[in-house]
Amino acid sequence: MLVMKFGGTSVGTADSIKEVVGIIRDYKDKKPLVVVSALSKVTDMLIEAAKMAVNGEVSVDDIRERHLDVIKHLELDAAILEPELKELGHALTGVSYVKKLMPELYAVVVSFGERMSSKIIAAYARSAGLNAAAYNAFDLGLKTDSNYEEAEVLPESYSLIPVSVGNIGQDEVPIVTGFIAKDSSGSITTLGRGGSDYTASIFAAALNAEEVQIWTDVDGILSADPKIVPSAKTIKEISFSEAAELAFFGARVLHPKTVTPALNKNIPVRILNTFNRSSSGTVIVKVKNENDSELITAIACKRSISAINISSPKMLLAYGFMKKIFDAFARNKISVDVVSTSEVSVSITVDAKYGLTGLLKELNALGAVNVAYDKASVSLVGSGLKNTPGIAGIIFGTLGEAGINVEMISMGASEINISFIVEEKNVEKAVKLLHKAFFDMSETLKHKPFASAGGKQASVSESQKPSVSDDARKLKLPTHAQEHAPGFSPGVLDKTIKTGKLSQNKSWRMI
Ligand code: ADP
Ligand code: ASP
Ligand code: MG
Repeated sequence: MLVMKFGGTSVGTADSIKEVVGIIRDYKDKKPLVVVSALSKVTDMLIEAAKMAVNGEVSVDDIRERHLDVIKHLELDAAILEPELKELGHALTGVSYVKKLMPELYAVVVSFGERMSSKIIAAYARSAGLNAAAYNAFDLGLKTDSNYEEAEVLPESYSLIPVSVGNIGQDEVPIVTGFIAKDSSGSITTLGRGGSDYTASIFAAALNAEEVQIWTDVDGILSADPKIVPSAKTIKEISFSEAAELAFFGARVLHPKTVTPALNKNIPVRILNTFNRSSSGTVIVKVKNENDSELITAIACKRSISAINISSPKMLLAYGFMKKIFDAFARNKISVDVVSTSEVSVSITVDAKYGLTGLLKELNALGAVNVAYDKASVSLVGSGLKNTPGIAGIIFGTLGEAGINVEMISMGASEINISFIVEEKNVEKAVKLLHKAFFDMSETLKHKPFASAGGKQASVSESQKPSVSDDARKLKLPTHAQEHAPGFSPGVLDKTIKTGKLSQNKSWRMI
């Protein structure tokens, strides 16, 4: 069987829902279980409605109108969503009484997006002759912890889901709500923004599906967000670890948690375009065909992040200091993105969505703390980065020439990711320039170009080894990259990065 997930961008209009139902029909023989997101923008509208309710204004009018418009164009019964709209009205009234958006109420309010879209899509599929029915994922056994805004799946889901889905008629196509679940006490939870991808992967793992298909509005995972780099190229095959890094570091096309359940069962995840069915998309696999391995697979970026710097002479040669810092993050449930350390300071970036008051109070007890807002991270991801010196030189050279300041450059322990921080206002320019440098400048550059000690290609004998100028010419690198790539100009990193202890033991190390 197959799990197919259609995102908000695929179910935003009556026409796209028709497209979606056509795709489901094409795969009917594979016995698909379909996971759907809310109609595009509806989750944002629900959050907005909840905020208005906090201020005493309760209205479901905009949300009703958004759905009725689609229902009308699909020629469905206008009354099908009345029970949900009524219940949503009650939830918003509850918010208006409490006068604040408690996480439990947030989850209830936003759950209506998927609860309504699944009903519309199932109703249209039935009107088009498919035997389809809408299901809430929580009625099919999806259980999570009680982290209402970003819940974690509970292991029992993996045994509950096959039983409930097994009770569904063989010929029926279940249209299941993405994004939402229930905790052990029966309260609604959400899997985090963009979490329907995660729902699909959980169902696929629970049901031992042959594949998870994530249908969206682009041809797959591209070498960069096509909204920033229109010339970005579709990646045919990508490893689970590369995809996870890209998703974690901002490639919205996939929710970061999606890969884990599928990976555990070695189920391939395929990203496909609802609006371009002829494209074969991207397949995420456990082991990639190494021959296809390029130096950089893709560039991702994450906006709205804050960089927290903690400095204290107490850090010097002290053990346990880092633990205290990370414990403070854990206690405040704040996820850490990029970390870099020097002898007496540590810099950590976090998503600006988190409130920092509690954390900063704790950190202040450990050292001098300052926070820089309006930052963005840029991450270059690729298994080809391993053992290939010179990347940082190209990054610094390319961005330095454009006057873009780079901070906190770090390499993940997996060595398939280099991340650094720039001012948010520079992020698009940085991604465009780096995409040009790594993907457009030279075909040769894409295939591990640097013959250098320390790298895999160090086995090249002295007589075979091309001269520095030969290499630079062959690579057709931009002038700055020729100058800065270590191997061409050793020691450039020493000049560029202030300090940083090289340690393989840390989860991140300075490069
Ligand atoms: P859906 O509604 O299908 O879940 P999303 O909006 O969540 O779709 O994700 C698709 C979007 O992800 C694309 O329109 C694209 O702008 C963005 N995106 C960011 N990085 C990438 C990337 N590397 N490859 C493809 N798309 C990306
Ligand atoms: N509707 C939810 C959101 O907008 C979940 C999803 O789209 O995957 O975040
Ligand atoms: Mg999405």
